[in-house]
Amino acid sequence: MAKRDYYDILGVDRSASAEEIKKSYRGLALEFHPDRNPGNTEAERKFKEATEAYEVLKDPEERARYDRFGHAASAPSGFDGFGSGGIDLGDALRIFMRDLGGFGGMFDESRTRGAAGWASSSGEDLRARVALTLKEVAAGTEKKIRFKRMVVCKECGGTGAEKGEALRSCPDCGGSGQVQHVRQTLFGRYATVSPCRRCGGMGKVIEKTCPVCRGKGRMEKRETINVKIPAGVSAGNYIPFPGKGNAGERGGPPGDLIVMIDETGDPVFERHEHDVLLDVAITMSQAALGSEIEIPAVTGRVKLRIPKGTETGRIFRLRGKGIPRLHGRGSGDQLVRVRIWTPQKLSSKQKSLYEELGALDAKDLPPVGKE
Ligand SMILES: [Zn+2]
Ligand SMILES: [Zn+2]
Repeated sequence: MAKRDYYDILGVDRSASAEEIKKSYRGLALEFHPDRNPGNTEAERKFKEATEAYEVLKDPEERARYDRFGHAASAPSGFDGFGSGGIDLGDALRIFMRDLGGFGGMFDESRTRGAAGWASSSGEDLRARVALTLKEVAAGTEKKIRFKRMVVCKECGGTGAEKGEALRSCPDCGGSGQVQHVRQTLFGRYATVSPCRRCGGMGKVIEKTCPVCRGKGRMEKRETINVKIPAGVSAGNYIPFPGKGNAGERGGPPGDLIVMIDETGDPVFERHEHDVLLDVAITMSQAALGSEIEIPAVTGRVKLRIPKGTETGRIFRLRGKGIPRLHGRGSGDQLVRVRIWTPQKLSSKQKSLYEELGALDAKDLPPVGKE
């Protein structure tokens, strides 16, 4: 397959600035990164293609060579480029991490540098779950959440270095943070520069690491927080606590704590968003004569008037007796479905009354057939 033009791949014109090239690559890399497109070989191909194009065009020397010779400059017999097979995925991922810093912190370079000027990383987000009963959902509640998180190491204050131990210049790169590689190619010798692996490009290393955190700059701690949960939440809602996740390594910024809401379900009520449904049995005489009954509500109890002549299966709606909507937008309703209960055992008194009744009301039965 003929290789596509690097400028076309990145969607920039031949006079694009280094900034435009990086910006375009960032957009494509984010869209096609394998982590965001698992199992999608076409996305992987596009990710590699974009990374290769970026890797060549971001370097002024390689870009000039490419402008002059096209892909021939990167043929296997040419300079030490990607060849006709293209870049491999591992290299592409490394370039993505190296130049864009991965998904986190990509838009803010300062996030990747800690207080100590030594390679740091952002802390992870943490998740905690709270399961609420329907009553708690209806009334709102406060919950204590106990969790473990990584916090800044007390011993070293997050630097990862032993007390009194200064950072020293990295021996591999002499403090410049960069390492030079000289390559011999058809076009002559030329040098490429890449970030130093030992110091992560920071130019400084720690000689003795902190004995408490072993150089990570953070340690585990148990914490408890009180979480106020407003009335009306549902399973799947979450409450974020910015900065309450793990501390970053060596002074990196902390992640967030995300409290996820679950519902335990209710033995009596069936929830339908903000409405609740309750099934209630009433007697034949209550249905026929009408009555007032007391029934449970999501918070407390309510009275329900059964009009005379109520049929089985009828649903009554008690407005505003359901679950509150978030942000004070009223409440749902409580629906009450009545079922006329047929007695299974009769006393002799009941039996004779039913017999008397039966002789009277049988003639009023509706005819058979569809209603
Ligand atoms: Zn420490
Ligand atoms: Zn170094």
